[in-house]
Amino acid sequence: MQSRRGGGGGGSKSEMINNNKTKQINDALDKHLERSSSRGGGGAGGLVLKDNDRFSMFSGNGNGKALLQKKKLVEESETDSEESDVSGSDGVDSSWISWFCNLRGNEFLCEVDEDYIQDDFNLCGLGSQVPYYDHALDLILDLESSAGDVFTEEQHDLVETAAEMLYGLIHVRYILTTKGQAAMLEKYKNAEFGRCPRVCCSGQPCLPVGQSDIPRQSTVKIYCPKCEDIYAPQSRNQDNLDGAYFGTTFPHLFLMTYGHLKPQKRLPSYIPRVFGFKVHKP
Ligand SMILES: [Zn+2]
Repeated sequence: MQSRRGGGGGGSKSEMINNNKTKQINDALDKHLERSSSRGGGGAGGLVLKDNDRFSMFSGNGNGKALLQKKKLVEESETDSEESDVSGSDGVDSSWISWFCNLRGNEFLCEVDEDYIQDDFNLCGLGSQVPYYDHALDLILDLESSAGDVFTEEQHDLVETAAEMLYGLIHVRYILTTKGQAAMLEKYKNAEFGRCPRVCCSGQPCLPVGQSDIPRQSTVKIYCPKCEDIYAPQSRNQDNLDGAYFGTTFPHLFLMTYGHLKPQKRLPSYIPRVFGFKVHKP
């Protein structure tokens, strides 16, 4: 919460990351997750953590996006008071959800209805997957923590990271509901998920998809309804966005719901030619 109030988005000058601190938080989070998953047993909580570094599967960048962004916000508030004065004001007014969805890199996420989050039924099973579940949920809903706990800075970071993960796991469920699909439809109409890079698809708008429903396996990809293939998002901004926050089902269910949006015909494939003649396969 504090980091959110620290300043607005934008600005890219401070991408420096305190690696030690990040690692410390990652380790602590992993320890917590390991403990809770071994305690929780099977069921929906069967999340197995393979990496030591949270989000380290995103090659080359072993630092959680949350921490990167948080760091940026903190540094901006320290070094650029003018900017934070201007943009900080709407950061305070907006809800955690809209703040979070407007962060750079989170453009694919839609805003989940608070009513949906407040219904315990919709969150069934998530308690065993996310550490600091209650605090993370309070953070997402902008509620003051009921227990009145005073957090150390490290714990606060853990709760923020947990809130991100919890939001993602709620998001993947929400976008399969009628309301969630409608929210994603708006984004799809504006081609906010990007367009197919394949020339023969003539700029077909794409939909986000995960290659796995288990968190921390792979980053989000985009699915082209025309060529029915998946691609890496065009912007590097999504390099840290977990594919499990969209899941393997979403684009396909979406196109069943909005059948009229599914392109009727695939455009012909590209045909390699040498001096105008098709190349024969040996
Ligand atoms: Zn395509």
